[in-house]
Amino acid sequence: MAAKKLAIVLPAYNEEEVIEKTTARLHGLLLSMIENKKITSDSFIMYVDDGSKDRTWELVNQLRAQYGQVQGIRFSTNFGHQNALIAGMTHLTGTDVDYVVTIDADLQDDPEAIVDMVDLANAGKDIVYGVRNDRTTDTLFKRYTAQGFYKVMSALGVNSIPNHADFRLVNQKVLKAFSAYQEREMFLRGIFPLIGFNEGRVYYARAEREAGETKYPLRKMIQFAA
Ligand code: UDP
Ligand code: MG
Repeated sequence: MAAKKLAIVLPAYNEEEVIEKTTARLHGLLLSMIENKKITSDSFIMYVDDGSKDRTWELVNQLRAQYGQVQGIRFSTNFGHQNALIAGMTHLTGTDVDYVVTIDADLQDDPEAIVDMVDLANAGKDIVYGVRNDRTTDTLFKRYTAQGFYKVMSALGVNSIPNHADFRLVNQKVLKAFSAYQEREMFLRGIFPLIGFNEGRVYYARAEREAGETKYPLRKMIQFAA
């Protein structure tokens, strides 16, 4: 099978402390997948700067010059994680990119799992969910609130995949179907399972944030849950 073009999309809000490390790591991963003929050599990493107030955007531009395979788009102000993901995916819908992987910028999600995602996509899966196989790196507080959150969501009839956040691969077919959704306050984890298609899952252990602090303080968590 011919290699596919992959774009890795990372939402980034005030990530100056980690973005260089993340780029180096993902760039290495891209090169090895290119070498193994899993993806095309014009595959790339795309940051969506969610209105950062620190040096994130400056660093994106620096990294763009340093590595051939880095791109970036930028919000004028902070619109939030979900909107940054939506902007990234929308930007790539209908392009020659075959697969889009979304992953957090802080390396908490295991980049190596992207290789498995691509393998499953190459084997015919349209959407591949990254699922954490433990929550030991979370604080007790985060564990309880996350559990409560999923319970309330499912009571409200939102069918989401337990322990899956926004680490996933989608192909163009899914992106096109997704673009038909016109909701304003989107909860992506609730929407993708509704779209259907042929799904796969990869399991990974979630690490600690590599550097910097959480951009989800309690205030934003409550807002998100609402
Ligand atoms: N993020 C964003 N906009 C925001 C908050 C977060 O784009 O308003 C990004 C952030 O840079 C990171 C991802 O969303 O890439 C997840 O955020 P974080 O790691 O802070 O959340 P946590 O893992 O603590 O739940
Ligand atoms: Mg994080």
